[in-house]
Amino acid sequence: MDTILTNTLDLAFLNGKVITVDPQDSVLEALGVVGNRIAITGTNADVEAFIGENTKVIDLQGRTLMPGINDTHFHPILGGLLGVEDTDGMIKTTREHCPTLVSMLDMIRDAVKKREPGTWISMMGYEPELFTDEQRHPTLEELDAIAPDHPVHCMHGGGHICMYNTKAMAYLGITDPSDAEKFPVDEVEVIDGKLTGQLRGHTHFLLWGKVDYTPEQQEKAAMKSYETAIQNGITSVGDMGECGPVSYRTMQRLTREKKFKIRVNMAIHSIFGKPFSKEENDHWMGLGFTTGLGDAHFRVGPCKFMIDGGSGGPSCATREPYSHDPTMVREKGWGRQETIDYIKALADAGNQATAHAIGDEAVEYMVEGYEALYAEDPEKTKARRHRIEHCTLVDQDLIDRMAKMNICPSVNAGMVQYLGANYMKFYGERNQYLAALRSMTDAGVMCSIHSDYPSGPMGLQMIDGAVNRFDRVKNVQCEKTQAVSPLEAIRIATYNGAYSTFEEDTKGSLETGKLADMIVLSGDILEIDPMEITNLAVDLTMIDGEIVYER
Ligand SMILES: [Zn+2]
Repeated sequence: MDTILTNTLDLAFLNGKVITVDPQDSVLEALGVVGNRIAITGTNADVEAFIGENTKVIDLQGRTLMPGINDTHFHPILGGLLGVEDTDGMIKTTREHCPTLVSMLDMIRDAVKKREPGTWISMMGYEPELFTDEQRHPTLEELDAIAPDHPVHCMHGGGHICMYNTKAMAYLGITDPSDAEKFPVDEVEVIDGKLTGQLRGHTHFLLWGKVDYTPEQQEKAAMKSYETAIQNGITSVGDMGECGPVSYRTMQRLTREKKFKIRVNMAIHSIFGKPFSKEENDHWMGLGFTTGLGDAHFRVGPCKFMIDGGSGGPSCATREPYSHDPTMVREKGWGRQETIDYIKALADAGNQATAHAIGDEAVEYMVEGYEALYAEDPEKTKARRHRIEHCTLVDQDLIDRMAKMNICPSVNAGMVQYLGANYMKFYGERNQYLAALRSMTDAGVMCSIHSDYPSGPMGLQMIDGAVNRFDRVKNVQCEKTQAVSPLEAIRIATYNGAYSTFEEDTKGSLETGKLADMIVLSGDILEIDPMEITNLAVDLTMIDGEIVYER
């Protein structure tokens, strides 16, 4: 028993499997809360001794009580912009809403009827491989025929490839195939001397920056994501990039007003491409503030930039060509030396650095950047807990170098649930080191895990991906070398996340004195067949001692 109690409890959980994630990985029976803090953990008898008249008692009946999930790479606004209502900023074209190419074109047709000419039609979510009619992107001709007077932004689920119509491309002055030369190689697709409407990587992000999302749309979006997230047991997120100043203001205000109760670490980063993101980081550094500014509800996170493409297209920067199609472009928005120099600038200004780096070549740039810092000052570099976002394809050498420097990658292991079968095709043997939680954990790397919402599965589904490595869309068992146990996955999804934001002393485990952020699952996650984790639900979510969701 461990307690700081002098009085009776506000709330007691009894008869549970309390996964504490303490240093010994203790699993206990009961836990008690006073105010916003955990006041006692131990046996039923230990906790019952502090139950008074006004104590609310919850009988867990053998269910799991565990720390709330810390999803370290999440996009509350971007994720919530996606929806099926007319007032939503972005029309959702994921496979549940849009199973065929024909249905996607119909959705554009419908939006054209409802919106004033000149208004953006912004969409996201489709994967051509998952269409049940034709497995291809819409063509420029199809988009122009349906929407001659509305700019159309029709984005792939992975976010790195986007189809635009003629009206939209005009915003960047792309009206003729020769205009492609003004942009980085292969980012404006031209086939047989004609524009196809497909933009990739940084040019796509630059044009996406012209799509206008209003403050009202952004607030609605954040609150919608909040509701989804608490139902999935998320109590902390890393907000890894939104739509500029309106978004920073919106998130800060919503947390201060206690509407968005999930704890937020918000990275300095704009999703709209290199120039926007660099501008925001440079401005931040110029002011002299550093990572960590804020309180237990809203803090400024790392300074982020974005090196390569996505894992699902694929468009990420791997060292070797993709296994299924060696001719495909491997995008790099930042070069090797440029990355090293920018990491130094971010660190010299006192910040935790990070960048989106998926392919092993991009990860290597990051590791080399941190090695340059480490060579100058090993202790300071280790203490800064620098990050790498996604860090999807690695090898043992990269992992060992990360371990030495205390680099804290945020890994998208849950994506296997949606894209595992594709990963097997795209990356072949490299799947043995894909989202390498097993090898990272064994090497002592403090890796955390994320959904990259709206891109991947969240909460327990993310844990299912990490544990089972099973593609739940295509029903395919994927490479399991990097699978971790349920208990390891829980530690990665809770304590390690808190560590990556310097908050492990106040949250991330169920220990006396820590913030009362915890969730109750519908079963006993350590006893059931791990393949059944996907069928568990979150019964209750508590943040700061308050029950914010109950099923
Ligand atoms: Zn992201």
